[in-house]
Amino acid sequence: MNLGLMGGTFDPIHSGHLVVAEEVRIGFGLDKVVFIPSARPPHKPGTVVTCPEHRYAMALLATASNPCFAVSRVEIERPGPSYSIDTVLHFREKDPDGKVFFVTGADAIAEILTWKDPAGLIQMCDFIAVTRPGYDLDCLRSLKQRLGTDLWSRIHIFKATPVDISSTEIRRRLSQGLPVRYLLPDQVLDYIIKVGLYRG
Ligand code: ATP
Ligand code: MG
Repeated sequence: MNLGLMGGTFDPIHSGHLVVAEEVRIGFGLDKVVFIPSARPPHKPGTVVTCPEHRYAMALLATASNPCFAVSRVEIERPGPSYSIDTVLHFREKDPDGKVFFVTGADAIAEILTWKDPAGLIQMCDFIAVTRPGYDLDCLRSLKQRLGTDLWSRIHIFKATPVDISSTEIRRRLSQGLPVRYLLPDQVLDYIIKVGLYRG
């Protein structure tokens, strides 16, 4: 099985995440893309993140209609900070003969050297670095130099349809009463309104 893993805070999940996941799934012939909401993002210390159960519920609602999408609770259930390397190990152990691709936006991969054991992580799975509006691929040039040829060869750059949406912008718009409809699935927006998230 070719598995795509897409980690993130998904606070909330939006159409940018979904477009990227679907294009990568088809582009790389993945059997499944698993969205993995992080419980305690180690790289976002100090920021207030919505409770994991709400982020998990929104991810479930957003992906329910796609049989090739799934949502994993692995990082929510695991105590301590959510390290990607532990997550990749988990999925590799579940399917030792399968192939794992870790999918990130260009902004996230550019910071991979700040993650836990980046070299070990890159040796463990292939990476798909997806273009994202506002993040020039030039920012990956220094990463290429620092990783060296071997590790860099495991990072595949993928040009996705540019969707200039971020969770930060959606939270900001919601807190100001601005419209967000169609920036994220209707079911997710209904849930946000129902439980009263992001009201500022
Ligand atoms: P925030 O603004 O809170 O950081 P976000 O929109 O960046 O939210 P994350 O949950 O941080 O969403 O992102 C999860 C993954 O999806 C990251 O690898 C990120 O780079 C990628 N991603 C998010 N939005 C887009 C987008 N519009 N285009 C391409 N990649 C994206
Ligand atoms: Mg982000």
